[in-house]
Amino acid sequence: MPLPEPVLTAEVEERRLDILVADITTLDVDAIVNAANTSLLGGGGVDGAIHRAACPDLLAECRTLHGCPTGEAKITKGYRLKAKHVVHTVGPVWSAAKAERNKELLASCYRTSLALAGKHRLASIAFPAISTGVYRFPADLAARIAVETVLSALPAKAPSLERVVFCCFNREAAVHHEDAFGELGLV
Ligand code: ADP
Repeated sequence: MPLPEPVLTAEVEERRLDILVADITTLDVDAIVNAANTSLLGGGGVDGAIHRAACPDLLAECRTLHGCPTGEAKITKGYRLKAKHVVHTVGPVWSAAKAERNKELLASCYRTSLALAGKHRLASIAFPAISTGVYRFPADLAARIAVETVLSALPAKAPSLERVVFCCFNREAAVHHEDAFGELGLV
């Protein structure tokens, strides 16, 4: 099934970057990324929505992974999701006192997720706005880091990827990603 109409698309070296406003659990892509916590055993927000949509087998597979450090990522199957895989990554909890470290950890979430997509030769992946919910990362800064990191890491980490989706849950998040596309000269 085709994805919902993007609010903005950019082509970079024959790869397509899309900004969508959608529920990530509905997307028909090779992998969706989950903004998980270090236990990988489910939580609220996008994590809860993914586990509800995927069925309890996802939780059972997550139990075998023994958690995930902040800034890293692990991959599972997608079970009842349309997505074939879920890449579980753990974003930093925002604290202004540790802004530089948090920015690096957030970029690392995108890089390690892309590296897993590359390792599994996936062609499409959708990211939620990692850390911008309960973890309170400033949404404009997070969007800029997300787009910048995907742009710089894509060719080396995941040459198989033809399409990267920034899946925003609301219009406001999409505007931050649109601004980032503009600031980085993509549109
Ligand atoms: P974190 O703990 O990393 O902050 P959250 O799940 O609380 O994770 O929020 C991350 C982002 O995911 C927020 O911008 C939130 O609006 C968004 N979000 C929540 N549910 C969904 C969903 N079903 N699809 C896409 N994005 C979602």
